[in-house]
Amino acid sequence: MKNRLSHRLQNISYSQTIAMSAKARELKNKGYDIINLSLGEPDFLPPNFVLDAAKQAIDEGYHYYTPVSGYLELRKVICEKFYRDNHLKYTPSQIVVSTGAKQAIMNVLLSLLNQNDEVIIPAPYWVSYLQMVKLCESYPVVVQTTMKNNFKIHPKQLEKVITSKTKLFIFSTPCNPTGSVYSYQELRDLAEIFKKHPRIMILSDEIYEHICYSDKHATSIAVFPDIYNQVITLNGLSKAFSMTGWRIGYIGAPEWIAQSCDKIQGQMTSCANSIAQRAAISALKADPSEIGYMIKEFKKRRNLVLNLIKEIDGFQFNKPNGAFYIFPKVSDFFGKKLYGKVIQNADDFSELLLEKAQVATVSGSAFGDHEYLRISYASSEDKIIEAFTRIKKALN
Ligand code: PMP
Ligand code: GLU
Repeated sequence: MKNRLSHRLQNISYSQTIAMSAKARELKNKGYDIINLSLGEPDFLPPNFVLDAAKQAIDEGYHYYTPVSGYLELRKVICEKFYRDNHLKYTPSQIVVSTGAKQAIMNVLLSLLNQNDEVIIPAPYWVSYLQMVKLCESYPVVVQTTMKNNFKIHPKQLEKVITSKTKLFIFSTPCNPTGSVYSYQELRDLAEIFKKHPRIMILSDEIYEHICYSDKHATSIAVFPDIYNQVITLNGLSKAFSMTGWRIGYIGAPEWIAQSCDKIQGQMTSCANSIAQRAAISALKADPSEIGYMIKEFKKRRNLVLNLIKEIDGFQFNKPNGAFYIFPKVSDFFGKKLYGKVIQNADDFSELLLEKAQVATVSGSAFGDHEYLRISYASSEDKIIEAFTRIKKALN
């Protein structure tokens, strides 16, 4: 049966973040007291004014297909948002609203990639980039970054892997899973390379833009006028507004890309959910200070996690400056026998934490580095404290 599936499908794997959280949920349903620090999903409610907007949309009768790229009113608000928060000028014809950032990424990849095209992806990368590129039958060119370099790609590393087949560069800032945030100057330095290769497009995933712990707002690489036409800026409501299930993502892009995403989406899904789009108008119109309470809380949790993780021998880590993950190196445990089993890699380690501490995490292998582990702190302080207490106990 299996070999009747397309080669495209046989080549890709299940999402490990989703698989781990499904496993945690299943164990919980069986009665195990699992603390789930695997999924990148905020535990807040969406803001009240967003919930009210959705209720109003139902009452006002927004039950029907919307324009494929999204309501014009929403696309106008997105343009204002891009200008207000990111100093980016887009017009509504450059905006496409999709069913989550995931669909927006897939639209872009399907728009650009041919078989055997190359896509440069710095590792650690977000779990789905690589598999999505493979789904397009293109070739991911993974560039390993180091903890010492704060998991950021150096322009020289980038330049080295560019070939005549390179079509696209994909990265996230703030980064899932490392929490690193590229500075203005670091992006300017990368832009210098892209400027020399105007055929290469850049997909800048900024879904964690508001979840940033320094005083400065994260920079968008599209701010540099000399490469603006090469950039697709990606964002969405899942993280900052705690609206993972509402499935709203969007891009700002050169018009030819927006048009092709509209064409693909018109065949695949018609449009994103109408009620969620109305709610998105009120979310994105609001001043970002309206969600400041969530960011403050994430920062408190980040600091708590930094204090707790210090107490555990064998974890090496960087201070994350954004998103809600910590990404410790756990290779000190490799080759050691714990509970009668030799730990070979982060998959084994994550499995051990699930079994012996009942804490769900995600192995770094999902993100392109099997020496690391991703721990999400998008959970309450109590759960975080309990999780680290259990991990420490299990490892002692
Ligand atoms: N990009 C990154 C870096 C993410 O962490 C996520 C999380 N799901 C996504 C994209 C996809 O988000 P969405 O829920 O909007 O599909
Ligand atoms: N982006 C989240 C994560 O990395 C949600 C899971 C997913 O969409 O794959 O955990």
